[in-house]
Amino acid sequence: MTGPTLVCVPIIVRDTDSALADAQTARSMGADLVEYRIDQFFTGAPGTNGPDGLAAEEKAILRIVAESPLPCIVTCRPEGPEGGDYDGPDDARIALFERLGTAFGPGEKPPRYIDVELATYERSAATKQRLRLAVHHPEQLSDIHTSLILSTHDFTGRPMDLTRRILRMREEPAAAVCKVAYRCRSVRDNLELLELPTETGKPTIAVGIGEFGLMSRILAPKFGGFLTYASLRPSQGTAPGQPTLRELLCTYHFRSIRPTTAVYGIIGWPVEHSLSPLVHNAGFHTAGVDAVYIPLPVPTGYEHFKATLTALIDHPRLDFRGCSVTIPHKENLYRFALEQRELLANHGAVHPAATAGGRWSIDPTAAACGAANTLLIDRDPRTGRATGAMIANTDGAAAVECLQGRLGDLASRRIAILGAGGAARAIAAALMMADADVVVCNRTRKRAERLAAELRQSVPKHHFGPGTITAADLESVTRDCCDAFVNCTPVGMTGGPDPDGTPLNIPDLGLCTPETVVLDTVYTPIRTPLLRHAEAAGLGTVDGAAMFVRQAAAQFEAWTGKSAPLGLFELITREALTRPVAV
Ligand code: NAP
Repeated sequence: MTGPTLVCVPIIVRDTDSALADAQTARSMGADLVEYRIDQFFTGAPGTNGPDGLAAEEKAILRIVAESPLPCIVTCRPEGPEGGDYDGPDDARIALFERLGTAFGPGEKPPRYIDVELATYERSAATKQRLRLAVHHPEQLSDIHTSLILSTHDFTGRPMDLTRRILRMREEPAAAVCKVAYRCRSVRDNLELLELPTETGKPTIAVGIGEFGLMSRILAPKFGGFLTYASLRPSQGTAPGQPTLRELLCTYHFRSIRPTTAVYGIIGWPVEHSLSPLVHNAGFHTAGVDAVYIPLPVPTGYEHFKATLTALIDHPRLDFRGCSVTIPHKENLYRFALEQRELLANHGAVHPAATAGGRWSIDPTAAACGAANTLLIDRDPRTGRATGAMIANTDGAAAVECLQGRLGDLASRRIAILGAGGAARAIAAALMMADADVVVCNRTRKRAERLAAELRQSVPKHHFGPGTITAADLESVTRDCCDAFVNCTPVGMTGGPDPDGTPLNIPDLGLCTPETVVLDTVYTPIRTPLLRHAEAAGLGTVDGAAMFVRQAAAQFEAWTGKSAPLGLFELITREALTRPVAV
């Protein structure tokens, strides 16, 4: 493929004026091409022909093409397995394509492409011949400027006969571009799609359908894809999983993605509403780092996680350099790293299942709490091969930094952790490493006791610490007060189990002073009921957004070796969290 990957906005044509207005908007927002989807507009019914011999809908389509502010593809996908809406006669559709290819004279703007399904094209020798006569190709004798995209779609999954379909598209001389779209059932399905442009030897559009397919759409320029689709508005995608034009260009900086671009992402389930792509892509862009950060949805379960991570790390051309890992996979990342180390210890790096040579290092917080949210892959700059990996837990350090910002040195500070789940464990471990005295309170007391006992064993000893950890009832913590309270439960979170609740009754706090700090790890909303009550009582507060920013900054610094643009991260996070939700 020569030239940069094009960005095409599909437009569902309902009437001429709105189709042209949408195309104008697409142009002003930076698209290269529009695709007029005329499936619902064109009926193919024999209409009353005007004096020029054309039916009204045909005339309208020719007008849209002629006045299109951007070069265009015209697609009239039939109802059925390939996902269209056209239910008229096939002959009328082919006749329209013939007209679109041949009706425009010198100085006029014909469609740049028509998109025809391989299945339609191969239906009969006559159809093939009619379409061949209507498009530009090496054997075409007429002066025609419209080219053919031959396409194949499967909305259920990867077609069994994909290789044969690709071969037929590749060998058809009239096809200027091959298009393959199928439903991705996992992140791994993208990896085969991304290789298709190299394999076909022709300009190729390779699109993953559905939420798992976003990767193929964003990374098309890295792998020489001919074109990617982006919708004008969030609700207007013609295919599920399609990014909006704004997301593609402004969040993922699509125009900067090239073969050398390193890939990072966030593994979790769900991840579609994660703020991390906004923050990290902005960071890479600002710091001039040639990298992109994408959502990597991986369903619950260690086997899913392990298979995905191994495929990403071992892919020879992806240049996957690391990721954030969120719920429910933080423990899985730790388990994976341990397994890799065991392979190295028991079999040496030559073991076929060892990835990154089995050389995995684990930071002290991750080791102490048995969970990690950050992965960094080292690669040989010459061969691109993964040579080692590091996992870390930046949640704990982020909370510690937030509290140090208010309280200074945390040594011997008494800090209450509310909750005993994953966040509580990471924060408690990091606080102990900062020599604080931690008190854990949890709805299920036994879980708090277990957490305290385990961290007492796992937090590494050093010459003056670590701090202590005990389990306690909420009443005793409330009565005796603490230097800080950290909410690590979802209480107060929008959409959580108790959105209006507080995990702690602030008016009950006995001995607190204005120096006492309340940190809420929940960040939706930013001002939780707990923080509002704490502010009203004159206590210091730190919100979950501040912690989120710091854990992201630590990841950014681990990956790039550069200081994170904290102010930018903060701005983007707060802006995204206060943006009204589109309904
Ligand atoms: P988790 O592992 O599921 O643990 C949840 C904890 O909250 C458990 O101890 C649970 O108690 C307790 N809990 C749940 N519902 C409760 C209720 N209605 N009343 C009282 N206690 C309740 O979750 P997690 O991964 O630790 O995450 C906890 C919070 O931390 C989430 O809201 C998350 O958004 C936040 N977080 C924020 C950041 C950040 O950067 N700001 C980073 C990580 C996590 P039981 O043991 O009794 O079930």
